[in-house]
Amino acid sequence: MKARLEPRINLEGRTPLETVIPLATPFIVFVDPASSCNFKCTFCPTGHRDMIAETGRFQGVMKFDVFQKVIDDFGAFDKPIKVLRLYKDGEPFLNKRLAEMVAYARKSGHVDYIDTTTNGTFLSPERIGPVLDAGIDKINISVDGMTEETYLRFTGFKFDFAKFVENVRWIYANKGACEIVVKIPNELISASSSSIPSATVATVSSSRTSHPAGRSSTSRRIPASRSQRASTSKTSARPTPVPISSTVIR
Ligand code: SF4
Repeated sequence: MKARLEPRINLEGRTPLETVIPLATPFIVFVDPASSCNFKCTFCPTGHRDMIAETGRFQGVMKFDVFQKVIDDFGAFDKPIKVLRLYKDGEPFLNKRLAEMVAYARKSGHVDYIDTTTNGTFLSPERIGPVLDAGIDKINISVDGMTEETYLRFTGFKFDFAKFVENVRWIYANKGACEIVVKIPNELISASSSSIPSATVATVSSSRTSHPAGRSSTSRRIPASRSQRASTSKTSARPTPVPISSTVIR
């Protein structure tokens, strides 16, 4: 697999919100399978568990019946939700029913496109395979280090980086129609560019926003639905890379 540099924030095909509001149906809905996280990233509120506890915010996983109700309630809208984002404040793979959630949303007919963002801890074939099989459209994988030492420094977590790279290779080989984006802050790339696995590809993203809420919400592009994407050639022209400030791998 060859590396490919692209802008993460694609401004093509966007709908200017001011031309369509008020919306009868939301474009994007975030539903958080887990509001807690196994990492303690220094830059993230979720990583500061005592502080979150003081706010009273729930730290745990969403119950499946609550998730079902959320999806069922989407049926009250005139049209399907364009994008269901299965993440917000925590690590979605902490919820062991994530694959069932994807499958339920997919089968509901109330959602056009489903994505998630993960810190990459739980990407074993046993965990991610069912999520791919359930029909997720895109998985963003945030990278917080290029070595176990940098992971420990930024996340407070003993991360098995070699296993992570192995898992990413497996995902690329088994992703089917799912789009995979591996996002790496530029400072990590420049610090250890020789460590980038050759099986991966690079794109551009914005600064060190990484995984937590808001980190990828800078991108408001509404992706094509599964059926639209199926009819789009993989060789179609991609936008010219723009010098935003960090790097991702596609
Ligand atoms: S940035 Fe992501 S991985 Fe790090 S603590 Fe926050 S939610 Fe967890």
